[in-house]
Amino acid sequence: MRTKISTFAVIFLCVCASVSAQQSATPQASGEQTAGKPKPEETELWQPVPEVVTSGVDCNAPPSDAIVLFDGKNLDEWVSSKDKSPAQWTVANGVITVNKSAGNIETKRQFRDYQLHIEWRVPANITGSGQARGNSGVFLAATGTEDGGYELQVLDSYKNETYVNGMAGSIYKQAIPLANASRKPGEWQTYDVAWTAPMFNSDGSLKSPAYVTALFNGVLVQNHFELKGETRYIGQPYYKSHGPAPIMLQAHGDPSQPISFRNIWVRELK
Ligand code: MG
Repeated sequence: MRTKISTFAVIFLCVCASVSAQQSATPQASGEQTAGKPKPEETELWQPVPEVVTSGVDCNAPPSDAIVLFDGKNLDEWVSSKDKSPAQWTVANGVITVNKSAGNIETKRQFRDYQLHIEWRVPANITGSGQARGNSGVFLAATGTEDGGYELQVLDSYKNETYVNGMAGSIYKQAIPLANASRKPGEWQTYDVAWTAPMFNSDGSLKSPAYVTALFNGVLVQNHFELKGETRYIGQPYYKSHGPAPIMLQAHGDPSQPISFRNIWVRELK
């Protein structure tokens, strides 16, 4: 069975809180058990035992089993989406800044299902309006198609009107975010995402769709949303068969000042 929302909820809700031990069921008095009646032990599971994962020092720091995709130092985990050459975005002061002329960048690694943490910042002096104001995007799986894959939109949506299925926290042109949790330009913002990749049959037909759950600055904006296909700029979404895929960051062609990213890590889900 694929990973479901209940698992995601546990992941997200537990990261910042100190986790109290689960209360053990109160044993029933022996006199309450009678032959043939169900026993509490019959519904207890003891396997598989979850792996021990040490959480980060805060909810933004990578847990012990995370793959760190950017730790503030270099773009060693990233390549140009165009030709897979070394990524040419700017790294300075622990931050990646989009180089629009260099095009999109993507991870060298390919993923299926995962939990992703990524932080982004719109420049304080951002200009423009609508979709031409801090536009970027996190492609949760880069498929190499014209539209790129499945985009979780990045945009300045702090008092910046645009179509609502294209604002920050949207699955571009498919899912309106459940809330607008945008911070002001100049402030760092977070996405925490649980991604379930689509699966395809050997003949290329869809076996199971993609699902996404996303928190934007800790606020739930996508709740186990079932994608209808890749996110398309023009026309209706549809799927095209693919396997494990990189995560891609968008160098959008709008003329506004480029946005920045930091602290990017991923946990593969088995
Ligand atoms: Mg975008």
